[in-house]
Amino acid sequence: MNSYDYLIVGAGFAGGICARQLADAGKKVLLIDKRDHIAGNAYDFVDAHGFLIHKYGPHIFHTNSKKVFEYLSKFTDWRFYEHRVLAHVNNQLLPLPINRTTVNKLYKKDFDEVGIEIFFKNVRYEINPIRNSEDVVLSSVGKELCELFFRGYTRKQWGLDLSELSAGVAARIPTRTNDDDRYFADTYQFMPANGYTKMFEKMLQHPKIHIELNKDFKHVRHNVPYKKLIFTGPVDEYFDYKLGKLPYRSLRFEHQHLKVDQLQAVGTVNYPNDHDYTRITEFKHLSGISPVVELLLLKNIRPILEIPTTQYQDLRMSLCINSTKRLQTKSQMFILLDAWRNIVTTTWTKLWAPP
Ligand SMILES: Cc1cc2nc3c(=O)[nH]c(=O)nc-3n(C[C@H](O)[C@H](O)[C@H](O)COP(=O)(O)OP(=O)(O)OC[C@H]3O[C@@H](n4cnc5c(N)ncnc54)[C@H](O)[C@@H]3O)c2cc1C
Repeated sequence: MNSYDYLIVGAGFAGGICARQLADAGKKVLLIDKRDHIAGNAYDFVDAHGFLIHKYGPHIFHTNSKKVFEYLSKFTDWRFYEHRVLAHVNNQLLPLPINRTTVNKLYKKDFDEVGIEIFFKNVRYEINPIRNSEDVVLSSVGKELCELFFRGYTRKQWGLDLSELSAGVAARIPTRTNDDDRYFADTYQFMPANGYTKMFEKMLQHPKIHIELNKDFKHVRHNVPYKKLIFTGPVDEYFDYKLGKLPYRSLRFEHQHLKVDQLQAVGTVNYPNDHDYTRITEFKHLSGISPVVELLLLKNIRPILEIPTTQYQDLRMSLCINSTKRLQTKSQMFILLDAWRNIVTTTWTKLWAPP
C-alpha cells in the first residue's frame, strides 16, 4: 500500500494550495475530497448549454496580496472583473455597499462628500461596545438604512436577525462617502480566464500529488498510511461532533437560462425586502460569455455555510483550541472552514509555508 507524507482532506483553496506547496517541497501527498470534484466551493463547470457556472454560488476573486495573485497566476490567466451589486430598495436599484450615490438617489438629495459625512454623522448611533452585526450597521448608517438594506437580507440569507449575527459579518461591508460602487476595493480583482476548476486542475497536476474523489475522511482515516494530516473540512465534524455542533446554513441555487442579451446592469442584484430569494446573479458579467442567470433561493438542501452567530462563539473558540492542541501533539493541522472569512485565496497562500 502507498504511504504518504501528507493526507490532505478537502480539495478546495485551502487543501489544494497546501497540496501543491508540499508537493513542490518534495512531499508525497494524498488529497481526498468527499465530493466528486476538486476546487471546493469555488468549483465551476461548463453546463449543457456551454456556459461556465459556479455550482456553489458566484465566487469573485479579490485580494490585496501581490504574493497571492502572483502565486495563482502560475496556474491561470485572468479576466479583469470588478464585481458590482445593486440592492432593490423602494423600487429603485441602489449601489451596495452604501455610498454617496445610494443616499442621494434614495433621499433625492445632492450631497457632496462633506454633506454625506454630515448625513452619516447625524443618522449613526453611538454604540460601545459593538457586540453584533446590528450594532455594526446602526453605528455606521443608522436605523432607516439598516432596515432597508440589511435586516431583511440577513433574515433571508442567514435565517437570523441581525442582532444574532456576530459583528464580523456586517463589518465586511464598508460604508463609503464617495461614489465608488465596486463591491470590493481590493487591488487585485479578476476572474480565472477559464474558470476556477481549470486553475485547480493545473495547480494539482504534479507527480507527487495523488487525488482521490468521492472519498470521505471517515472512511480512509484508518486505512491509509500517512505521516501528517491536514484537515480543511468543518472542524466540528472532525471531532465527530463530540465537542458540540456548529450551526450551518444551506443554500439552494437555481439556474435559469434566459433568452435575453442582458438581464441586469451589474453582476448581482440583491432583494433585501421583496421575493423569497436573496439575490440574482447574472453569470455573463462574471465570465463575459454566459447568458445564465442564477437565482439564489434559500432552501435547506446541504450544509454549506457555517453561521457566524454570536451564540456559538464559545463553541467555535473551544473547537479552535482543541484543534490547536491536536496540532501540537499529533502532527495534525487544521484549517478552519469559515466560508466567508477565509476570503478565497488570501488566507491560505499567504500563510502556508511548507515545513
Ligand atoms: C455561496 C458562497 C459564495 C461565496 N463567494 C465568495 C466570493 O465571491 N469570493 C470569495 O473570496 N469567497 C467566497 N466564498 C467563500 C469561499 O467559498 C471560501 O473562502 C473557500 O471556498 C474556502 O476554501 P476551503 O478550501 O477552506 O473550503 P471549501 O472550498 O469548502 O473546501 C473544503 C472541501 O473539503 C471537503 N470535505 C469536507 N469534509 C470532508 C470529509 N470529511 N472528507 C473529505 N472531504 C471533505 C469538502 O467537500 C470541500 O470540497 C463564498 C462561499 C459561499 C458558500
